[in-house]
Amino acid sequence: VSDAFVELFGRKQEGTWSAPGRVNLIGEFTDYNDGYVLPTSLPMEAHASLARREDDVLRVASAQGTPGGGERVVEARLADLRPRGHKGWADYVLGVAWALREAGHTIGGADIRVDSEVPIGAGLSSSAALECSVALALRAAFELDLSLEQLALLAKRAENDFVGVPTGIMDQMASLLCVPGSALLLDTRSLESRQVPFALGPAGLELMVLDTRVRHELGNSAYAERRRACEVAAAEIGVPALRDVEIARMGEALARLDSKELRMRARHVITEGARVLEVVRLLEDDSVAEIGPILTAGHISLRDDFEVSSPELDVAVDSALATGALGARMVGGGFGGSAIALVRSSDSGLVERAVVEAFAAAGFAPPRVFVAAPAATKTSPD
Ligand code: ADP
Ligand code: MG
Repeated sequence: VSDAFVELFGRKQEGTWSAPGRVNLIGEFTDYNDGYVLPTSLPMEAHASLARREDDVLRVASAQGTPGGGERVVEARLADLRPRGHKGWADYVLGVAWALREAGHTIGGADIRVDSEVPIGAGLSSSAALECSVALALRAAFELDLSLEQLALLAKRAENDFVGVPTGIMDQMASLLCVPGSALLLDTRSLESRQVPFALGPAGLELMVLDTRVRHELGNSAYAERRRACEVAAAEIGVPALRDVEIARMGEALARLDSKELRMRARHVITEGARVLEVVRLLEDDSVAEIGPILTAGHISLRDDFEVSSPELDVAVDSALATGALGARMVGGGFGGSAIALVRSSDSGLVERAVVEAFAAAGFAPPRVFVAAPAATKTSPD
């Protein structure tokens, strides 16, 4: 990181701040229903190096900014920052500076270079890792009095209002608050969170990520359509959000919906909320190996009730389960992206081969498979 920074900006950075990508163990499409999510951080992180400037200019560069290599510096004056719809990757960085200023925090100009290990566009939240590493760098450099929760909200604001992507709060909260060996139980209504033990090593387990490398545009329109269906279902049931339907009263609630499709969508959200709490109960009971079947039940619900899976995701999940994975499910928005599988460490090589072979047999492009062990969020310079 340091040499490239000097090459670009002709001086050394003051420090480097890092924030990880994440996977959500369980709790998919619960965020916009005010429900629970349970993310854990990845070992891959985004790193933001920064040196303050005397003027009010931001100069930003990314090692991943130009496909095919070569780094271009994007320059903007702080006073000129305005949301203008998505123009490029640099908006994720400039947006954080914009959101800080909008909230009344004083920052000056800076040279910033990011370099990230988080796979981009795979549903592992490279965008939040990028925003959060920059937010940590700006907080430290300009001595801003902001909690990690406040930083997460500002990073989300950057993505929603500056970049123009309507995401929930999970990604930024996970990137800033997850700690090694834990998952983060987050209530997306109150933003209360707590750490839940998620120690796979002592149990002889690993969490694998199976990235299909498929990115379907369909995801965007389906996301909006599912979101709308959940709002309509909550209104027809007569609750503020689907989160307010207790699992014990699900039958009664679903009976109030007049279309089969709405019943399926609502059933996913309501049962998924119950699955999050059941996984938390098992993790707190030191029974991590037993969460596998609940993850798999989550996949079946996403596939059959929410209808957001894809042939590639189903092959990834099915081939992992067929070779001994304790549980597996698609993660993220669906129609592509990644799946996760909980496996015994001794089986991970076998599962990886099985998934790669199943993709080849189905005529799909090769997936990317790796082990995700929780990583730390560093809040001080490396
Ligand atoms: P995900 O967060 O699942 O990886 P998103 O579509 O939310 O996918 O975010 C991906 C976008 O974030 C990229 O298209 C790019 O604009 C930006 N991004 C993420 N990481 C980097 C990086 N290291 N350098 C430049 N841009 C990045
Ligand atoms: Mg993202």
